[in-house]
Amino acid sequence: MGKKDIIKIEGGMDHINLEILGYIDHNITVNIIRDNEIVEKKSLSLPKKITNIIQCKNPRCITSIEQGLPHVFYLSDAEKETYRCMYCEEKYSR
Ligand SMILES: [Zn+2]
Repeated sequence: MGKKDIIKIEGGMDHINLEILGYIDHNITVNIIRDNEIVEKKSLSLPKKITNIIQCKNPRCITSIEQGLPHVFYLSDAEKETYRCMYCEEKYSR
């Protein structure tokens, strides 16, 4: 997906996770379409917090030891797009 990509979503936002979309590519614009009309244009931004999208790679992290915990990462550096594990501060770089 390039910077000019536009995603068209028909029928509302209910089942679309903008958190995931924003994490994948926050340079895209999302057009919300209802009855063949654009009802909303949304620019995505990097989410401050992402849950269950990426997993912590630290083998000593509690999420690696305990099953069923949500994998929560927070944005620690928006410019470098760096996320850190909420539990052990392990850096996640892509
Ligand atoms: Zn961790």
